[in-house]
Amino acid sequence: MGQEHEGEGGEEYLFKIVLIGDSAVGKSNLLSRFARNEFDSNSKATIGVEFQTQVVDIDGKEIKAQIWDTAGQERFRAVTSAYYRGAVGVLIVYDITRRTSFDSVKRWLDELTTHCDTTVARMLVGNKYDLENIREVSAEEGKSLAEEEGLFFMETSALDCTNVQTAFEVVIREIYNNLSKKIL
Ligand code: GDP
Ligand code: MG
Repeated sequence: MGQEHEGEGGEEYLFKIVLIGDSAVGKSNLLSRFARNEFDSNSKATIGVEFQTQVVDIDGKEIKAQIWDTAGQERFRAVTSAYYRGAVGVLIVYDITRRTSFDSVKRWLDELTTHCDTTVARMLVGNKYDLENIREVSAEEGKSLAEEEGLFFMETSALDCTNVQTAFEVVIREIYNNLSKKIL
């Protein structure tokens, strides 16, 4: 499933995490910020990149987060079942300056539900927090949707780094905690 164990030298964990959400909300930039600390102001749709791996330390355990990007498939407003297969965490991203991307969140959640079980760790992410002056979706709206749907919630900026590390780490920690509960 979503984790691997290695003998000698301690355990090793591999968590597959997927990014979903409308096109141009900033999924690829959140990932490149998290995995390489890079931002790309070019608006071209992501093509090709399947996933990036980032090692995170949780309570002294080395965890490999394998984070999947949509490779532009979401322009067709859905991603394939192969994309979700084996995922143990998901970040559902919208753009706080584009209400339509927030309205799409429910549809993305429906798609997620058809492909993944309820144990998947879920984070709702309102990205482009740096564009506060042209915001269309309030933080309260994001928060209350997240509460309704049982999701973690965070507003982020891939541009100025706000909460990017934290958003991914909260999901990774939740996966790790769920796994520990299962083992104990
Ligand atoms: P994706 O289609 O969801 O993967 O979105 P991208 O990562 O390709 O980003 C789409 C556009 O939004 C690009 O022009 C990015 O430079 C821009 N963008 C992404 N994240 C942010 C952010 O946090 N703040 C601002 N101001 N622009 C962003
Ligand atoms: Mg992209």
